[in-house]
This record gives sequence, C-alpha cells and structure tokens, in this order.
Amino acid sequence: MPHLWNAEHARTVSRSSSRPYDYLIVGAGLYGAVFARQAKDAGKRCLVIDRRPHIAGNVYTEKVEGIDVHRYGAHIFHTNSKQVWDYVGRFAEFNRFTNSPVANYKGEIFDLPFNMNTFNRMWGVTTPEQARARIDEQRRAAGITDPRNLEEQAISLVGTDLYEKLIKHYTEKQWGRPCTELPAFIIRRLPVRLTYDNNYFNARYQGIPVDGYTAMVAAMLNGTEVRLGVDYLQDKAALDALADVVIYTGPIDAYFGYRLGALQYRSVRFETEVLDQENFQGNAVVNYTDADTPYTRIIEHKHFTGGTQARTVISREYSAEWKPGQEPYYPINDETNDALYRQYRALAEQESTVVFGGRLGSYTYYDMDQVIEAALQKAEDLLG
Ligand code: FAD
Repeated sequence: MPHLWNAEHARTVSRSSSRPYDYLIVGAGLYGAVFARQAKDAGKRCLVIDRRPHIAGNVYTEKVEGIDVHRYGAHIFHTNSKQVWDYVGRFAEFNRFTNSPVANYKGEIFDLPFNMNTFNRMWGVTTPEQARARIDEQRRAAGITDPRNLEEQAISLVGTDLYEKLIKHYTEKQWGRPCTELPAFIIRRLPVRLTYDNNYFNARYQGIPVDGYTAMVAAMLNGTEVRLGVDYLQDKAALDALADVVIYTGPIDAYFGYRLGALQYRSVRFETEVLDQENFQGNAVVNYTDADTPYTRIIEHKHFTGGTQARTVISREYSAEWKPGQEPYYPINDETNDALYRQYRALAEQESTVVFGGRLGSYTYYDMDQVIEAALQKAEDLLG
C-alpha cells in the first residue's frame, strides 16, 4: 500500500490542536473501522463518517429471513497472517467455512478450483500423471510456449477443454472483453492442483463470522462516534474543521473532483431473491461458465454459515461496465489507469493532513486481510 503520509508530521499536528477530534475517518469499511479501533485504543478522539446508511462498507451483511446476506458480493475471510487472524478473532467468532465453489456448464457440474476432481470429471483421468500429460498435450497442440494473453495463459495452465468450458465465457462475462484481449497476469495465480482438494484458498486460516461481518465491524467501532449518510465531499470544509487529520478511504479521483479524469472500474449488479424452499443449489457459490447464462454466479447465502432456515436467499451476480456515480468494485489496473492513479497519488502527497487508504484510496484490489494489515500498519506509523 502506498505510503502517502508523513507520520512524524501527523503526530505533531495531532498533539497541538484544539479541534474536537484528532481523526476524521471517512469510510466505515474495514480500513476505517480498524484504524478507528487502533486510534481509540491509543486514546485518540475519532469521528467516523460514511455516506452509506450503514457501517461495514463492502463487507456489509444484513439479516434476511435470519440469514446473513452479503449485500456487496460474497466475502470469504482467508489469510496467512496469524496477526490478522488473531486480530479479527477479537471482534467476531469465525466458523470453519471452506470455499469450494462449483462450476455449472450447461448442466454439467465441475469442482473448483482446478484439481484432480475437475480433471477426472473432464477427462476420466485418475492420477496426477495422467492429468499432467493431458494438460501438456493440449498446450503443445495449441502451440503455446510464452503466453501473451489470458487465453494462452489459461490453456497453458489447464488445457483447451477446461479453458473452453470453465474459463473462457465466465471470464469474458466478467471483464466484458475477449480473453485474447485480456492480460495473462489476471489468471497467473489461478489455483491448479494435482490433488483431490476442492479448497479454493491456500490460506492457513479461513472462515466466516458466525454473526455476520456487520456485527464484527460494529464491535471494532464500539465506543467511537459514527455518523451515517454523511458525504465528506459534499461538506468537506466544515468536516475538515472538526479534526486535525483526515483518514480518507473513498475513491482517490473523487477526492480531487476527477480533475485529471475518472479511474475505471468493473462493477457488479446483484439481483437478490428470497425463495420459498430450503436449499436451492446445495453450495454457497456456483459459477455459471457458459456464454448464454447472463450472470456469472449465484450465491446462496445460508451455506456460508450452514443455515437451516425454512427459506433461502440467493443473489445472481451480473458483471457490468462501471460509470461514474455507480458503485466501483474492481479497479482495472491496466497501463492507462495505473498511470492516471500515479498522477492522483502525486497530488495526494501534497495533502499534508490527509491519509489516503483502503481499496478506493489506493486504487488496488485488496482482500480483507490485506486491508486490515494496511490499516494496522498505518495506525502504527501514526500512533506509534
Ligand atoms: P470499503 O469497504 O469500500 O469502504 C469504504 C467506505 O467509504 C464505503 O463504505 C463508502 O461508502 C465510504 N465512502 C466513500 N466515499 C465517501 C465519501 N465521500 N464520504 C463518506 N463516505 C465515503 N476480500 C476477501 O478477503 N474475500 C472475499 O471473498 C472478497 N470478496 C469480494 C467480493 C467483491 C465483489 C468485491 C468487490 C471485493 C471483495 N473482497 C473480498 C475485498 C473486500 O471487499 C475489501 O478488501 C474491503 O471491503 C475493503 O475495505 P475498505 O475499507 O478499503 O473499502
């Protein structure tokens, strides 16, 4: 995470002022909530604001039919950091959920991530040696030595058959462009295993808070003043006057009034439905990997926590082009956008009493554990 703040300066400012708050934290998402917790524990006075009517930012969960519904997309907590795992454990009890999504290709079901179960279903192979031989044979037949785009990268990782059924259309729906025009790096970290193991994440720790993420963030914010439905940029001068230092976790380009242009994102539209049946798809996550199904996946929320409610709630996810004013989800870190971000970052470095943090302030896709780690690090830099 870029370091956009002079910690010594921040400490000096915050010691000498008579404003009502030491920190104004813009955004009640994970970054803002973790920073607020650390600042409060260090004896600082904090005000947290968010323009949304709820806390928790994108990890917000709300109860529907007694089920925690992930309003802004499925969130599965996973980390290799014991420090982060112990930290979240202070605010929530986690279950032992293991992410094992399945893919539905025109009614055929495949296990994900790519592993021996997937290879067995696809080719009938039973040993790692046979699977490896199939993949190598298909890569050779496609003539790929040095993958130049996502299609070539995918074929060299899992072969042509699995690329055609499980990757091509799903990825094209997700990014709205052909795989041959997408960079290879997007799937360079695609998990491929020659073991019978459907656990998507390699992380040492994994789970879902049993009472939902909103309760976890509420526990982080316990004792800190929070004002909701307040847009910082609408009332910036008055809000700035309240605190010595601003921790800003909104979009960096919005902070500067998009004066250099808008950074691009991919967005997601969710269609959520309550169904009068107990179990719709038998799994939390099912990816639809054919071209004709318009959505990319269906989330059945109760399966994150083993819910036994009489009804169920599902969300269909439609990938969408982002336009200013819509919810930004995935930054498009191509050369053009990254160059624009660097320009905004240079402007941010001139803002001597503002810290830019979180996924939007840094224009980077961060998993939850990375955002928590970054907020803890920033708090340590500023609070000592
Ligand atoms: P946010 O949660 O976006 O919080 C920023 C807050 O700032 C928002 O609440 C916003 O309303 C507020 N804000 C912005 N501008 C203003 C303003 N002008 N005034 C007042 N408030 C403002 N991570 C995982 O580890 N596992 C997953 O499974 C996972 N799934 C994901 C699925 C999707 C679809 C997406 C998009 C992300 C996923 N993530 C996942 C990543 C995770 O969502 C982020 O790491 C995390 O939410 C980032 O927290 P944040 O505080 O930086 O940002």
